[in-house]
Amino acid sequence: MSFDTLGLAPAILRALAEQGYDAPTPVQQAAIPLVLEGRDLLAGAQTGTGKTAAFTLPLLQRLFVDAAPAGGKRRPRALILTPTRELAAQVHENVRAYAKHLRVFATTIFGGVGMQPQIDALRRGVDILIATPGRLIDHLERRTVDVSGIEILVLDEADRMLDMGFLPQMKRVLNALPRQNRQTLLFSATFAEPIKALAREFMRDPAEVQIAARNSVVATVTHRVHPVDAARKRDLLLELLSQDSRRQTLVFGRTKHGADKLVKFLDQHGLRTAAIHGNKSQNARTRALADFKNGKITVLVATDIAARGIDIDQLPLVINFDLPMVAEDYVHRIGRTGRAGAEGLAVSLVSHDEARLLRDIRRLLKQDIAIENVAGFEPSSPLRLDGNGGGGQPKSNGAPRKPNHARRPHAQTPSGQHPKPHAAANKQRNWRGGGRDARKA
Ligand code: AMP
Repeated sequence: MSFDTLGLAPAILRALAEQGYDAPTPVQQAAIPLVLEGRDLLAGAQTGTGKTAAFTLPLLQRLFVDAAPAGGKRRPRALILTPTRELAAQVHENVRAYAKHLRVFATTIFGGVGMQPQIDALRRGVDILIATPGRLIDHLERRTVDVSGIEILVLDEADRMLDMGFLPQMKRVLNALPRQNRQTLLFSATFAEPIKALAREFMRDPAEVQIAARNSVVATVTHRVHPVDAARKRDLLLELLSQDSRRQTLVFGRTKHGADKLVKFLDQHGLRTAAIHGNKSQNARTRALADFKNGKITVLVATDIAARGIDIDQLPLVINFDLPMVAEDYVHRIGRTGRAGAEGLAVSLVSHDEARLLRDIRRLLKQDIAIENVAGFEPSSPLRLDGNGGGGQPKSNGAPRKPNHARRPHAQTPSGQHPKPHAAANKQRNWRGGGRDARKA
């Protein structure tokens, strides 16, 4: 299937060709016709599926081709709400690229930076607003933004907005928007009850599109766990990073403080490292991400929320210094590797007290994870992975495994024989090979 059959204007098709996209992704194929029909939409799709274009392309077509704005002062006709500043900035970048041959002005509104430039931009007049909920409410309260002309609302990564406690702000924004003739598009990786309730309250008979199976992971990622004592994690990380100090690696830590400490430690050992987390200024975060993308630094240490939605191409390696508290976040983390058909490796350093988290992750992935000791870093006691919710006897790491055990996930795999993950989970994630390479060329 090509983009030509979707009914998009030549100006949009030209921009897509310039991006090097040759075919719509599954979520684009499913969502674009529905949005063009004017339907409200509930779309289940994660970062990396092409979801941004899935809502942006038909939005541009409807508002700026089919019903081009009348002359006079511009006021926003589309609002895209995102959970984080990084995602807002990325969506803005995409909007800019796709609208390159249209006369459309977009701006971002997010916290952590000065109000005044945003007020000035709004005063000059914009067509598309990309905003995080908190800062948008600041503008609503100061009456520096006029949302009475919003025709299309997009809630991007709605589940994460709820996770971050934005529900009251989202409702406030929704209540401030026109109800009549407003089209609402909700994108979310998961559809827990609060999301469904939001949809029932604020959407009109939404069409539903489900792309990736819930919590599916890229089939080309190999998962590996290194058991280690908590006190030795730093040294093990250093050892792993030193094996190839030019390899771009994203390291996940659980806390901001921990991430900072890790950066200091790695820095002291000569690795070019930066951290990205919620306590960093927007400028520092943008700079760290840019430095990482252009290779100035090779190690980026991130917390889950800061890393959510950041688009980094084809990382060969993601290391979980700590396991995430919520198993779903593991899936988001490793979504940064193994993209575009490239092989990726997700390595987790797991200490004794994290065994339960690892069990949760394995249950969620429904997939084996190779467990390998690293010589010189063997833990003082083995991980307890055989408990179904707590019980179980510790296994000796060197103990022979029962052959053909029916429940392989519970076995520890000897070094060098880690199994490939099951490929069936989500083939659709492999759509990108050609398009992105072409774009990069
Ligand atoms: P998203 O899921 O919106 O974060 O998109 C992930 C990445 O896929 C972005 O870098 C997009 O530029 C890219 N992308 C989106 N649609 C396509 C397409 N049809 N062909 C190739 N790349 C795409």
